[in-house]
Amino acid sequence: MIHIKDLYHTFSIGKRGKEKRVPVLKNVSLDIKKGQIVSIVGKSGSGKSTLLHVLAGFMRPESGSIIVANQETSRLSESEHAAFRLNNFGFIFQNFQLMPGLTAFENIELPLKLKGIPKKERHPNVEALVKKVGLTQVADHYPNELSGGQQQRVSIARALVTNSPIILADEPTGSLDSETEQEILLLIQSLNESLGLTFVIITHDDEVANIAHEKYRLHDGVLVNGGVLHVV
Ligand code: ATP
Ligand code: MG
Repeated sequence: MIHIKDLYHTFSIGKRGKEKRVPVLKNVSLDIKKGQIVSIVGKSGSGKSTLLHVLAGFMRPESGSIIVANQETSRLSESEHAAFRLNNFGFIFQNFQLMPGLTAFENIELPLKLKGIPKKERHPNVEALVKKVGLTQVADHYPNELSGGQQQRVSIARALVTNSPIILADEPTGSLDSETEQEILLLIQSLNESLGLTFVIITHDDEVANIAHEKYRLHDGVLVNGGVLHVV
């Protein structure tokens, strides 16, 4: 489903005229099978978010190749990538990134609006997801009227609503207490099992990383396989 080969990326750091190019991803290669949960664990600054941003097409890698669903994506233009992203990826972020002026229901509905899906088709789809992630009682609440765990459920439903096969999650439980973290991890596992979704989870926390089928570790831009945890 995802084939990453020899991904190399540097950032320019320092004052203008005295910039240095510092490598952040050093020949990262990674194969991810459909329906797997893969975790990438690493210390702060090891390059985890950069790897996810490059995979999602928010940033173009300096060199290397990324094939997602048989499409080489690393050289797509920005607008081609935006369309590709909407059809192939859903995103979950540490800080939820919900629209404060929209209710839970409307936040989940938003990607379908952006895709131009008519209201009649949108609503049953959103309602089913609201139920699936356990938000029926609070669907008309605004984000500031929801707990952290509920906000993360909204963002998970929003990631699923376009039926994208791959969910990219950057520290999905980083803002949650440990009990809520467990609830969200169980939800991710059940969505993986029931819908066959592929998850890529970035985390600094080994406990979160251990829900994966396969675990990788990023050390200072170098990716190493951390082993198979659960056989699919
Ligand atoms: P964290 O766990 O703290 O989120 P991370 O593993 O996600 O860390 P990245 O955000 O990928 O780390 O950053 C990797 C390295 O690249 C860091 O040294 C960071 O300072 C540097 N970096 C990230 N973004 C930029 C940028 N836009 N310009 C320059 N350097 C950057
Ligand atoms: Mg990060």
